Amino acid sequence: MSKPGRLIVITGPSGVGKGTLVRLLLKRHPQLYLSISTTTRQPRPGEVEGQHYYFVSRDTFQEMVTANELLEWAEYAGNYYGTPRKPVEQQIKRGESVLLEIELEGARQIQQTFPTALRIFIVPPNVAELEQRIRRRGQDSEEAIARRLERAQAEIEAADEFDLQIVNDNLEDALVSLEAAIFTQH
Ligand code: 5GP
Repeated sequence: MSKPGRLIVITGPSGVGKGTLVRLLLKRHPQLYLSISTTTRQPRPGEVEGQHYYFVSRDTFQEMVTANELLEWAEYAGNYYGTPRKPVEQQIKRGESVLLEIELEGARQIQQTFPTALRIFIVPPNVAELEQRIRRRGQDSEEAIARRLERAQAEIEAADEFDLQIVNDNLEDALVSLEAAIFTQH
């Protein structure tokens, strides 16, 4: 049997650039597997079922929670998000490393459910920059932006609970730090 793969959790506040970093990582290292989450949020324009998320109803999500089908889950800005357990466990067993890009509450649960995971927190250079990034994305209403920013402030305070913190000031520098953590730290 092959050596089990690693579970790598990437968290950090909304707008910090987790998604961009993960996309670049996957492009450079196609052997990494990104877990596709389940969510009750509505798809944004251009989002594809099974590629960005599995979009489900609240009832279906609840059933998945009850059946213990999620490795972790959390409510975020009025919607539920969770990591389907089976595909992650299968990849790890096969010796493949798996990336989770999730928010803080879920990342905390992983410490309990998967203690060997490498947990990385991406920190913004400052909160003003974070707000600009969320606004530039132009995907959220004023109310959603306010909720995301409030949550972001609270999340940043939790950064030191994690194995590693990486400041995303310069994208290339952050990526190099992330690669070093994933491919050399054990
Ligand atoms: P968005 O609505 O912008 O796609 O995602 C909102 C937040 O939910 C982001 O911080 C994202 O990392 C997080 N998220 C996405 N999938 C999951 C998941 O499966 N579990 C948890 N806990 N958070 C998730």
